[in-house]
Amino acid sequence: MRHAQRLQGIESTIFATMSALAVRTGAVNLGQGFPDEDGPTSVIAQAESAMRAGRNQYPPGHGTPELLDAVIAHQRGCYGLELDRSQVVATTGATEAIAAAVLGLVDPGDEVVMLEPYYDSYDAVVQLAGGVRRGVTLRAPEYRLDVDVLAAAITSRTKLILLNTPHNPTGTVLTREELEAVARVAIEHDLVVVSDEVYEHLTFDDAAHLPIATLPGMFERTVTISSVGKTFSLTGWKVGWASGPAELVTAVEAAKNWLTYTSGSAFQPATAYALTHELDFPRRLAGELQAKRDRLCAGLATLDVDVHVPQGTYFVVTDVARYGWEDSLAFCRALPERAGVVAVPCQGFYDDAAEGAHKVRWTFCKKNEVIDEALQRLAEADLHR
Ligand SMILES: *Cc1c(COP(=O)(O)O)cnc(C)c1O
Repeated sequence: MRHAQRLQGIESTIFATMSALAVRTGAVNLGQGFPDEDGPTSVIAQAESAMRAGRNQYPPGHGTPELLDAVIAHQRGCYGLELDRSQVVATTGATEAIAAAVLGLVDPGDEVVMLEPYYDSYDAVVQLAGGVRRGVTLRAPEYRLDVDVLAAAITSRTKLILLNTPHNPTGTVLTREELEAVARVAIEHDLVVVSDEVYEHLTFDDAAHLPIATLPGMFERTVTISSVGKTFSLTGWKVGWASGPAELVTAVEAAKNWLTYTSGSAFQPATAYALTHELDFPRRLAGELQAKRDRLCAGLATLDVDVHVPQGTYFVVTDVARYGWEDSLAFCRALPERAGVVAVPCQGFYDDAAEGAHKVRWTFCKKNEVIDEALQRLAEADLHR
């Protein structure tokens, strides 16, 4: 093997593996979280006209002025956060913003506290940076943040807290009280918080997203990250942004300069248009997703699994222990053949092996027919080992 040490143990993303399995077996894919209907045609038209108008060469590394201004207006309008252009940087999706934040802020040996189950890129980039992951488990059945567990995870080596709310895969939307507790810990130990908020607009019922950067004493120590993908059903565009105090944004940009430097010359102005003119789209989308959530949860509840109803995102987590498989990976590997359905095993997103062993994630950002077809196949299949 010629792979560098820093890649040791980092496997290819489980989402790609499971999508490939779906294609190979012709199974219904409730694995990878990409919507099967594209976002607003008006926004797509903006990208097209930007390309025709000659927006095809390197945009500024910091981001195009219209995108920076649109992010500033969005953070002000939605959350009352006041930013200037030095406090925002455009990135190649939230994924690059997270990677650049970790590479720009974490030294070898530094510890990074993150909620688990964690998004798989967190684990990988912390390792690339030479950092050490410390998971704080959101436990079934409620998947709430246990503040004492968070406080106990902090050591003298802790550098940052990598937060994600609304949380993939559990659908937990952190409450003001939970965020205040995170803020107390961050301030007491002088930590930076990197907050991944890509599902900020996709919340259900009376759950509302609150950026931790709005809490007293937090703006100056928080990097807030979001992107066009989930909000506007344009996951392939990979336009993201990080915002916060200039000192932290500069660290993100310093790393990002040597990853992609820049990308999305036509997609950045189109994303600016979306943020400025199409915020009704995610409002409608959240309503549709809530109905799809209910559809999928009701169907899953007729199976022999424990279903956790999410407050946001695209995902439902279930516990499949009663089917008798060794773990969720074995269950998910067998699922295409048993039922013609693909789901994502969550065990790889946990350090707490017992807690993660039988958790499976299903997405509902699909057409109703697709959800119904998957549910019918599951209902007719024998899922026991
Ligand atoms: C989808 C997702 C991302 C990646 O966002 P991109 O803008 O597509 O790079 C990051 N974090 C979470 C939690 C996600 O679900």
